[in-house]
Amino acid sequence: MPSRPEFQLDQAGVKAWLLEQDPVVLRRLWSAADAVRAAHVGDEVHLRGLIEVTSHCRRHCLYCGLRAPSEGLDRYRMNADEMLDSAREASRLGYGSVVLQGGEDPGLTGALIAEVIRAIRRDTRLAITLSLGERSEEDLLAWRKAGADRYLLRFETSDTDLYRRIHPSLPGIPSDRFAQLARMRDMGYEIGTGVMVGIPGQTWDTLASDILRFRAFDMDMIGVGPFLPSPRTPLGGPDAAAFLAPPDHQVPPDELTTLKAVALTRLVCPEANIPSTTALATLDPRQGRELALLRGANVVMPNVTPLRYRVRYEIYPGKACASETAAACQNGLEGRIHALGRRIAKGPGGRNKTQCKDLTACDFHH
Ligand code: SAM
Ligand code: SF4
Repeated sequence: MPSRPEFQLDQAGVKAWLLEQDPVVLRRLWSAADAVRAAHVGDEVHLRGLIEVTSHCRRHCLYCGLRAPSEGLDRYRMNADEMLDSAREASRLGYGSVVLQGGEDPGLTGALIAEVIRAIRRDTRLAITLSLGERSEEDLLAWRKAGADRYLLRFETSDTDLYRRIHPSLPGIPSDRFAQLARMRDMGYEIGTGVMVGIPGQTWDTLASDILRFRAFDMDMIGVGPFLPSPRTPLGGPDAAAFLAPPDHQVPPDELTTLKAVALTRLVCPEANIPSTTALATLDPRQGRELALLRGANVVMPNVTPLRYRVRYEIYPGKACASETAAACQNGLEGRIHALGRRIAKGPGGRNKTQCKDLTACDFHH
């Protein structure tokens, strides 16, 4: 079991772990994260069906292929029946919840999403997570009232200057995702957030601060995945060079750094639900999903979007599971989860608020 000083998870401690390269030393980080995961959220892996409801977006995020200025995208918007059918598919496959995710799309009105939430509530026992960008107070309240349980909104980076540059505000509406998350928590949502690892301009200090922000905000769900450059975006082309931090400071968008960030996130937020992200599975199709599950993650989000739409939801190229049916995706996944000695959870899988079961494993973060 690791001794206390090496798990002093303050800014310097987290940064030192992020910079660690020795595989023998890193084994201690992996086993600590896995022990904390087992003690606090157990061996069950929660499956959340991901429904990519729209590829329209009014924003200009410099990292995302769905940004409004992206040309040549065959954009789509699912209708209410299609969304409900996808949710029913998730329910048939035994998932405990669905995530309705998409671009920030005014074409998906508050009323339409509220209607879909009510229909999913009526027809299934699924918990409902929304991830539809920065929406009005009125929409967020209406959706909560209609029965939405959770909201995912990554703060992307805790460096406010970098955030402003890579996530431009809409005219006259300054974007403050921390404030939005706080408001949503007050409305009764469980809140989820996250960052991309290796976004141009992200330094080791920034990523360490991001991880400590997860703890400061006591986030319920935390998604940490690698930045995958999209050639449709400024950060996926030659313009990215102007954003890069000096070479010694710039975080690389690689698998090892992402896994360290996942493991450290588990150590600072022992009870959070942490997905093994699609972006990591895209970067390493062979074992990215499994490695994250072995290093702190406890959630997988299989894609249940109809195939005809899924390939058109192009945040970045080559997305994992973009061309398999939901059932095929599920079959592969179940086997891989069982092979790790883990079980698939039943039920909605909200945040586990119980105390540590294994005090030895918890010792170093109390
Ligand atoms: N529009 C909503 C929002 O921005 O919160 C939800 C959909 S958005 C595509 C979901 C997440 O995808 C973003 O929060 C961002 O972290 C991630 N993302 C966007 N572009 C990415 C890229 N090039 N590589 C990796 N992740 C990316
Ligand atoms: Fe739109 Fe979200 Fe992509 Fe930004 S990250 S362009 S808000 S879909």
